[in-house]
Amino acid sequence: MESAGDAGLFMAEAMAMAEEALAAGEVPVGCVFVRDRKIIAKARNRTNELRNATRHAELEAIDEILSDPRLTSTGAGRYPLSDTTLYVTVEPCIMCASALRQMGIKEVFYGCTNDRFGGCGGVISVNSSIEHPSHPPYNAAGGYLREEAILILRRFYVTENSNAPAPKSKANRVLKTEILPQ
Ligand SMILES: [Zn+2]
Repeated sequence: MESAGDAGLFMAEAMAMAEEALAAGEVPVGCVFVRDRKIIAKARNRTNELRNATRHAELEAIDEILSDPRLTSTGAGRYPLSDTTLYVTVEPCIMCASALRQMGIKEVFYGCTNDRFGGCGGVISVNSSIEHPSHPPYNAAGGYLREEAILILRRFYVTENSNAPAPKSKANRVLKTEILPQ
């Protein structure tokens, strides 16, 4: 397991990718995949740009890893990501949590909980509670740069609401900065 210092460092890199997504008009979620304390891939949400709802940050990064034979032939385990840790600003959704399990991810650290689609405990625990004949469960822990992860999502949705054809009342556009404890 990485140390807490590593987690903060790598989560800050994931947050930088989320900032890039925000600047590009995407739901601001970013991630980095780390092996041997080195970032081997980083990505951000690109669903709007590619008009493809599966282009979440995690799947973008997985494609990047799979496209590079130097990153997939580690020989360290039975699964392509069995010696790789994911740091992502928002809890992986059900789709991504399942993909990560198929790839045998070692461990996941995330910022805030995904209340609507969370696949690592937020809604269901695809990472651990569902039996799978061959793929091992993985540990997923949240709360890393959680407040930053929530605030950047709010910044996105405030902008999106004000750009909508029939904007809601101004009261809804105020950036809420109060964060309730989890
Ligand atoms: Zn996802």
